[in-house]
Amino acid sequence: MADNDAEKLNQAIKLTQKLRSNVTKVFTDLSDGFHNTQGNEKKLLGELQKYLLAVHKLADYASLILSQNALKRTQQFTGPGHSVKRQRRLPPIAHNYPASSVDSLINMLDRYWPDMSITISRPMGNCAVLQITLAKTLRALVVLRGLLIEYVTVKAYNEDFLSEDGKIEIWSKSRYQVFQKVSDLVTAGTLHFYHPQIPDTSLRSFLLWFNSYKTLFSAPCQKCGKHLQGSLPPVWRDTRSAAPQHEGCRQ
Ligand SMILES: [Zn+2]
Repeated sequence: MADNDAEKLNQAIKLTQKLRSNVTKVFTDLSDGFHNTQGNEKKLLGELQKYLLAVHKLADYASLILSQNALKRTQQFTGPGHSVKRQRRLPPIAHNYPASSVDSLINMLDRYWPDMSITISRPMGNCAVLQITLAKTLRALVVLRGLLIEYVTVKAYNEDFLSEDGKIEIWSKSRYQVFQKVSDLVTAGTLHFYHPQIPDTSLRSFLLWFNSYKTLFSAPCQKCGKHLQGSLPPVWRDTRSAAPQHEGCRQ
């Protein structure tokens, strides 16, 4: 939405709120009036008239702004020869992204980073499950609803996500403390990359950030310069710079 439109819509919302409070005032005054202002009908009527005028004015403003907006939208999408096509081109809602679009995006992203492989499957029906192998450092499993990340778990490179009968085991955790910690922090990190309006960019930005975990055991902490804090390497990656940090060194 253009800034101008957002501004107008915002204005309309504010006016509607003001309108609502004026309408409330009219009704409060009306009911109070019957009880408290007996014998002073003239004053009551004057007040009532004032608020009703305000209500009319605000209603006019709000409807004007909203109709301008509706008009624009109508022109935009039902212009000659465009109606159906334009509507089809609207971006789908993030959690409702068509499976075929998710597949092609993931196939593209799989080729994006030479040290990170991403495979997609749908063992639970609609939700896509991504299995990621990052260098020889770790593996991750990501559950997507549409393009929205619903769940992430990270394990060691020598672990897998398969149950004894060879099926994908989504909820199993790593047996290593370091990867349990990384799982928790990466899950927290997904919130930073949560932008439902631009779900494909969100997912790509998340994966770019996640890619920086390939140096989990080789990069020192950007803050203290050391490799280990307690028994753990820098398990956090800054969401802007992707710089490695110990959990205790995070700001
Ligand atoms: Zn540190």
